[in-house]
Amino acid sequence: MDFLTQPNRSFLFDINRNKLLAWIVRRVAYRHFCAGESGSEVRQTLKRFKTMGFRGTIVTYARETVFDCNKKDVQGVGIESFAGKATDLCPNIRSWRNGVLETIDMLGQGDQLAVKFTGAGPLVTDALAAGQPLPKQMSDALIAISDECKQRQVRLLIDAESQLYQHAIAKAGLDLMKLYNRDGHALIYSTYQAYLKSTPPAIESHLIAALEGKFTLGLKLVRGAYLATEKRSLIHDTKRDTDNAYNAIAHGALCKHIGSIGAEGGRPFPSVNLMLCGHNKESVFGSYALHQQRLLHGLPTVPLGFAQLQGMSDEISFGLLQLGQRQGPGPDVYKCSTWGTLKECLGYLTRRALENRDAAGRTVDEYRALKMEAKRRLRSLIPL
Ligand SMILES: Cc1cc2nc3c(=O)[nH]c(=O)nc-3n(C[C@H](O)[C@H](O)[C@H](O)COP(=O)(O)OP(=O)(O)OC[C@H]3O[C@@H](n4cnc5c(N)ncnc54)[C@H](O)[C@@H]3O)c2cc1C
Repeated sequence: MDFLTQPNRSFLFDINRNKLLAWIVRRVAYRHFCAGESGSEVRQTLKRFKTMGFRGTIVTYARETVFDCNKKDVQGVGIESFAGKATDLCPNIRSWRNGVLETIDMLGQGDQLAVKFTGAGPLVTDALAAGQPLPKQMSDALIAISDECKQRQVRLLIDAESQLYQHAIAKAGLDLMKLYNRDGHALIYSTYQAYLKSTPPAIESHLIAALEGKFTLGLKLVRGAYLATEKRSLIHDTKRDTDNAYNAIAHGALCKHIGSIGAEGGRPFPSVNLMLCGHNKESVFGSYALHQQRLLHGLPTVPLGFAQLQGMSDEISFGLLQLGQRQGPGPDVYKCSTWGTLKECLGYLTRRALENRDAAGRTVDEYRALKMEAKRRLRSLIPL
């Protein structure tokens, strides 16, 4: 997948020109992980998830830019080059804004929007990388998108991306939360990558900002998807360290105590809405159990939602839904999907392919569970 994403491929490996190759990738990967290439395809996918019992789908427009720290290479997926004057309106920002607004139009009841800032092209990524203010056209686009979300009561989740851009994305996310999360709940969520060593202090400073600014912090927690392209020293040394960091943040938020915030005699814990994104069974079910326990004992906690990616860990998503059937009103569970043309989705598909290496270990559990279920069913056919 990574090879196919690179520019200037020969005809044989160019997904835009080689129709057979495009057909194969569509069949093997795209349909499994992506929502569709057009509005009607996406609407059908969202309907399908709704009928399966999900609260809704979190939908992202695929266009993005990934910075590969190892190759020192900027990879704009689905982004055209633009050599206009600084005063011209940038067609990349315009088409990203239109694509995102079109995405909101596709959403039904319970569905949510996720955005990747870097999809707006080089003017925006250059500003993000340099820590400079976003071009006015982009700031206007973000306000128009947030206003539309507010009007349609759709939550807006800002994706976390490559570190080169992420500091500025997080800052812009905080500014939007200050503006829009003022009614006691989060309309806007920022994404926090637990694999980064810098994430716990970043969360603490955002909690303080929420407390002082009297707004709700929308905390979307992930482990982090850019392991292959980030500077390794920024990331925890081992998978176990990342797991511990993820669980500590999730449990801290659920117990309303992170660092000195929420501690006895420390600063009070601000209003937080938590969205736990991931496919790790221990993290998902451990956090669910802790949340339930706190609710049961009348202990303070925060509203909680869960999300898994389309095509991944369905047994976790359905396991959560089943808990709801067994234990009264169940957790809010979302599937998260990406839409766009095959070319626009290639970067996303590459990351899913990489993650499925991690997921290979989990399939052993699934295989065992399926084998047990098959045996149980066979046994139930044998009369006593
Ligand atoms: C709904 C949803 C939204 C998402 N949105 C984003 C987003 O906005 N930005 C983003 O970056 N990612 C996002 N992701 C992807 C996420 O960051 C993870 O890559 C993915 O979910 C796999 O991790 P896991 O928590 O499911 O569990 P696991 O499969 O248990 O963990 C795999 C993860 O552990 C970490 N890891 C693996 N090996 C090591 C190692 N040797 N050292 C340190 N850490 C290691 C990596 O983060 C890897 O992805 C999203 C995922 C979901 C489900």
